[in-house]
Amino acid sequence: MHVGVLGGGVSGLTCAVALRLRGHEVALWAERLPPATTSNVAAAFWYPYKAEPPDRVLGWARTSHARFVALASDPTAGIRVREAIEVLRRPMPRPWWADAVPELRNAPPDRLPPGAAAGWSFDAPVVDTRVYLGFLRAWLERLGVAIHQRRIASFTEVDADVLVNCTGLGARELCGDTAVFPIRGQLVHVVDPGIDAVLIDEDDPRGIAYVVPRGDDCVLGGTADANVESMEADPATAAAILERCGSLSPRLHGARAIAHVVGLRPGRATVRLEPETLTDGRRVVHDYGHGGAGVTLSWGCADEVCGHVDGAPLR
Ligand SMILES: Cc1cc2nc3c(=O)[nH]c(=O)nc-3n(C[C@H](O)[C@H](O)[C@H](O)COP(=O)(O)OP(=O)(O)OC[C@H]3O[C@@H](n4cnc5c(N)ncnc54)[C@H](O)[C@@H]3O)c2cc1C
Repeated sequence: MHVGVLGGGVSGLTCAVALRLRGHEVALWAERLPPATTSNVAAAFWYPYKAEPPDRVLGWARTSHARFVALASDPTAGIRVREAIEVLRRPMPRPWWADAVPELRNAPPDRLPPGAAAGWSFDAPVVDTRVYLGFLRAWLERLGVAIHQRRIASFTEVDADVLVNCTGLGARELCGDTAVFPIRGQLVHVVDPGIDAVLIDEDDPRGIAYVVPRGDDCVLGGTADANVESMEADPATAAAILERCGSLSPRLHGARAIAHVVGLRPGRATVRLEPETLTDGRRVVHDYGHGGAGVTLSWGCADEVCGHVDGAPLR
């Protein structure tokens, strides 16, 4: 099968690798390539955040978790498996995604910040997008996948038996999907003060807080503002992120920002992963709308895309 993958973020690159490894001829088209995609902005730790529906997300997240753990043994991939601690301000039932990780433990009290009632501890792949997206691209080049940097205005422009649409927020224009909307996220990068676990607090009344150590730096988040498209980092928002993350780890008190980054997550009520038949009879497999979990779901979604492509009729 000749497959045309549209999109050069984590979804498109991963689908292209997975399809090529299954023996398809693959070419990729993208208006923007790493480091200029939303995927580059992601804090990129494994965590199913703002992606629906839960039953499908659970399966995709579980598959991706296992794949990232396996890839972490390659030192060139930019993946490190770290302990993640989700802080709970009150006792809570097991999270809905618990079955997607090999083991969910109660966090020992000495690993929790002051004031926390309890916490979950689990192994979370941390994907350093500065390295990993280049790793995927280099993998594609080794596999002989042609990469074309070009905006596609219509599926008819791409000569392939089957298309895979991984255009994220770009699906609004490309296929007129009005259900896709931006969820703006702002992050602060600081020098890593020696933090040894990913820290997450979804329940802070001031807003979500997370700390993602990457070795040289630490990514602090965050915000999630639906239908906001400003790409300017807001200083007051950055100060609030630093304050919330400081409550998670005293090591972050007085941390100095080395970068402020903003990205627009491709929001959608549910991830769109389904085949559609175009008017010219060709099949397009859509794979977009992963919200705050595009990295977390990337391999599981790519496997399902492969299944649809394998079953697609030839032109
Ligand atoms: C602040 C922030 C923090 C995040 N943290 C995490 C996290 O910790 N974990 C996690 O899993 N996820 C996280 N995410 C979410 C994650 O970044 C997204 O879900 C993911 O990047 C979506 O990937 P994608 O490949 O589908 O889209 P994108 O990365 O947006 O890629 C879309 C691609 O399609 C191309 N394209 C679009 N339209 C066209 C067109 N018409 N023609 C040709 N090409 C086109 C673009 O140029 C681009 O190459 C975060 C996001 C943000 C903003």
